[in-house]
Amino acid sequence: MPSHSTSKSPPFCPNARCDSRTNSHPWRFKKKGFYLRDQKPHRVQRYQCHHCRRNFSSQTFDTSYWLRRSELLEPVFHRLVSCSGLRQIAREFQVSHHTIQRLSEKLGRHCLLFHEKIRPRSSPIEPLVLDGLRSFEHSQYWPMDLNLIVGPSHYVYGFNDAELRRSGSMRPAQKLKRQILEKKHGRPDPQATKKQVIELLARVVPKGGSAILRSDEHQSYPRAIDGLKDRRFEHEQTSSKASRTTRNPLFPANHADLLLRHSSANHKRETIAFSKRRQGALYRLAIWVVWKNYIKSRSENRRDAPPAKMLGLIRTAHSVPTVLSRRLFPDRAGLSGWVERCYFGRIETRAIGKCRAHEARFAV
Ligand SMILES: [Zn+2]
Repeated sequence: MPSHSTSKSPPFCPNARCDSRTNSHPWRFKKKGFYLRDQKPHRVQRYQCHHCRRNFSSQTFDTSYWLRRSELLEPVFHRLVSCSGLRQIAREFQVSHHTIQRLSEKLGRHCLLFHEKIRPRSSPIEPLVLDGLRSFEHSQYWPMDLNLIVGPSHYVYGFNDAELRRSGSMRPAQKLKRQILEKKHGRPDPQATKKQVIELLARVVPKGGSAILRSDEHQSYPRAIDGLKDRRFEHEQTSSKASRTTRNPLFPANHADLLLRHSSANHKRETIAFSKRRQGALYRLAIWVVWKNYIKSRSENRRDAPPAKMLGLIRTAHSVPTVLSRRLFPDRAGLSGWVERCYFGRIETRAIGKCRAHEARFAV
């Protein structure tokens, strides 16, 4: 007999195209046997949706769905924010570094959805600090900025990426190599920073909203603000040469940059653990943002609350297991624009091309 959903039952049909998502009748499903497996839980209940007849199981709603080594999710999360390289983590757990890379991507996608679910949607209640963390993908010929918006609470409101053209002092041979690479792969858009800052600000500050925005004197920032006529910004600029103390208005962003480089092997100076793709760096950044916003104490000496609790966005600090307790579904998150492209792995690295398409893997 079909049954109605209860608190211990599957909460909804995992089929994104099921009409039970749109019609007003209560969702119904029935139990359809179980299967046994070596890992815990050893007995997995199977179900069938009464509306679309799709089969699924209790595992469909678990973050460890489709994982052969599900016990690695939590320790890999910790190591990805503790400055380990993918191969270092792989050696510890005696698995291929490709396994760790896939886990990092999976955790990154989950963390993107986790942050999207909790982040505030109204005008921010504190000033925003905007900054770009300079790193590179693939080789030093392909620099990029990771744009971050942080508040004095140390909450990271959002982030995105902007590819840049290699600049600064170069030897003649390096200039020639840049010329050859740009002829082959194309030149990064000179407007990338402006366009991406517009995208980020529009995501963090809603239409009709307003915010105090603090930044350095990057020339693209005022141009980006000019491009957002339907929001009001009070822009305060501070020279990047000003001493980087706690009194500096840009301190939240400076502190986030420090912590990100301290925690992430791919952003260390002179490292061989740099990101081969910008997409990989963004997934890893999403994990760091969830750790910083929802898990980590603002001050580890005082063991106080994480920034999201200070802002009243969560009731208690999260732990890695609570962050990973339930699978989040992209079709229920209302993704659009850059976040959707990032989630589905569509951020292209010029020197390599497209990433593996992830969409096919989400069909249940
Ligand atoms: Zn269904």
